[in-house]
Amino acid sequence: MNNVVSKVAVVGSGISGAVCASTLARNGVSVTVFDSARGPGGRMSQRREISEDGNELLFDHGAPFFTVSNADALALVHEWESGGLVAEWKVNFGSYDCISKKFVNGQQDGTSKKYVGVPGMNSICKTLCNQPGVESKFGMGVGKLEWLEDEKLWSVMGLDGQSLGHFKGVVASDKNVVSPRFRQVTGQPPPLDLSFAPELAVKLEDIPVNPCFALMLAFAEPLSLIPLKGFSFQNSKVLSWAHCDSSKPGRSTTRQVFSFCIIREVMNIALSHL
Ligand SMILES: Cc1cc2nc3c(=O)[nH]c(=O)nc-3n(C[C@H](O)[C@H](O)[C@H](O)COP(=O)(O)OP(=O)(O)OC[C@H]3O[C@@H](n4cnc5c(N)ncnc54)[C@H](O)[C@@H]3O)c2cc1C
Repeated sequence: MNNVVSKVAVVGSGISGAVCASTLARNGVSVTVFDSARGPGGRMSQRREISEDGNELLFDHGAPFFTVSNADALALVHEWESGGLVAEWKVNFGSYDCISKKFVNGQQDGTSKKYVGVPGMNSICKTLCNQPGVESKFGMGVGKLEWLEDEKLWSVMGLDGQSLGHFKGVVASDKNVVSPRFRQVTGQPPPLDLSFAPELAVKLEDIPVNPCFALMLAFAEPLSLIPLKGFSFQNSKVLSWAHCDSSKPGRSTTRQVFSFCIIREVMNIALSHL
């Protein structure tokens, strides 16, 4: 691994890291993005599977869509929309009541447009991480961030202790880099020692980590009994919501594909039995 001085390292290629990297690059900063995952997107990832009969199945198993209320963010989303990176997902949403076994159409308030990445939720991060001025390295977990006082640079190291380069600045987009949870996952101490900023360490501790399970199902035949393309579950002890990913704009799939989110309590029970 060479030690060429890039200016800023961004840890994480989810939406926050990707937008940060792209904004820095647009402003003339040379950026290197590191992500331990195989590709960009973080919790806006897309999972690709091939069915037994050779059909491609694409699941948005993280965030199914997003809405925008902030004016600056909306301007950015309109820019992405005009570049074909995102599109409005105009379908009926509502809920399914597990007691009455009925679907209920949601209210169309007209103010919260639902946007999706095209052709996948990860497309936004993928494009931003490939912009001029952004170099992206996937499958590369950051294991240590160390300030080198003499050189006035950050040393970024991988999980095996290998050098990933020296940088004038580092942006960590995931609290994982200071969280004790990092040790549970990797067996190593968190990359950044926050003992120099104890107040910040306490605040970060207070931010909960809420893991969740996603269930991905593909159906050979269209599910004609389901009138909605996105719905929450009422009175279910297991399911939180479901979305029909194949009904989103820009998806070319011959199968009807749904992502389901399992409710947090069930997730917690499952985890406690691991
Ligand atoms: C099932 C589900 C449904 C959701 N629904 C919605 C919704 O409807 N609306 C909404 O607004 N939001 C929703 N969200 C939340 C939304 O997806 C997240 O808030 C958002 O995507 C988080 O983006 P992020 O960039 O902050 O973090 P992440 O997307 O988590 O990205 C962090 C990245 O950092 C990488 N990383 C972490 N530590 C390291 C390290 N040490 N070295 C290298 N890489 C590292 C990770 O691999 C990851 O790719 C949902 C999330 C899930 C999972």
